[in-house]
Amino acid sequence: MNLGLENKVALVLASSKGLGLACASGLYKEGANVVICSRSEENLKIAKEKIEKIDSKNSNNKVFPIVADLRHEYQLNNLVEKTLNEFGKIDILVHNAGGPPSGTIENITKEDWKNSIDLNLLSIVRITDLIIPIMRKQKSGRIIAITSVSVKQPLNNLVLSNTTRLGIVGFAKTLANEYGDHNILVNVVCPGPTLTDRMKELIRKTVKETGKSYEEVEKTWIDPIPLGRLGKPEELANLVVFLASEKASYITGTVIQVDGGFVKSAL
Ligand code: NAD
Repeated sequence: MNLGLENKVALVLASSKGLGLACASGLYKEGANVVICSRSEENLKIAKEKIEKIDSKNSNNKVFPIVADLRHEYQLNNLVEKTLNEFGKIDILVHNAGGPPSGTIENITKEDWKNSIDLNLLSIVRITDLIIPIMRKQKSGRIIAITSVSVKQPLNNLVLSNTTRLGIVGFAKTLANEYGDHNILVNVVCPGPTLTDRMKELIRKTVKETGKSYEEVEKTWIDPIPLGRLGKPEELANLVVFLASEKASYITGTVIQVDGGFVKSAL
């Protein structure tokens, strides 16, 4: 299937590792130019080298790294400005961000709340503010927000994720409604438990708190998954790449999970 992604420009946020890196890699493979970002120049350098090893459909597409902390508005401005200076357009925004700390209502601090609202919720509002005028001028655009299955089924010990990510769903649906007539398509994807550094960190934290073994804690994540295993980052990326592609031209305003069946509700 030709996805029509050659020479498109994709800005993939929080993409030095895990799901963001998998999305950037998938888009690059299909021939898109990808802008990758994270807070660490060193991690970005490693990520760029990894992506450039992939056999792309396009012999000329580039990986362009930009250091940015998504919690800060001026760094988002810089990210968009540098992307435009380099490529002159932005066809695709994949909004991803670092995960908030785990914890219950009782043990999350005021500072954790502020950080997570800035990182997980306000960063998409702020960057979309900058990108919508560009996409409107281009008369096309794709925005894909990576959230979590927590928007469909709140997860234990993850109150920040359960709360801030639902705001993204409301925001994305509103964008899809308001900018459909400008051919800007907006969708939300919801990863289930997927084996990345973030997942390993969540498991290790529970090991420390409970004294259980790594395997026992990992099993508690796997048990509710009908497919009987954790997801792979590229399995989430496959959906993101498709939603970014010309083949997804009639899909907007949806909230789709990639979770091996983890979410138990019917819708
Ligand atoms: P990860 O920790 O492996 O990667 C996170 C990426 O975000 C890294 O590239 C990191 O450098 C970057 N990042 C973190 N804070 C940043 C900041 N302030 N500014 C810029 N970049 C920043 O995480 P992951 O597993 O790939 O998860 C990605 C997102 O998906 C997270 O929000 C996570 O909570 C969510 N999620 C993950 C899973 C899972 O099982 N892995 C499930 C549901 C939701």
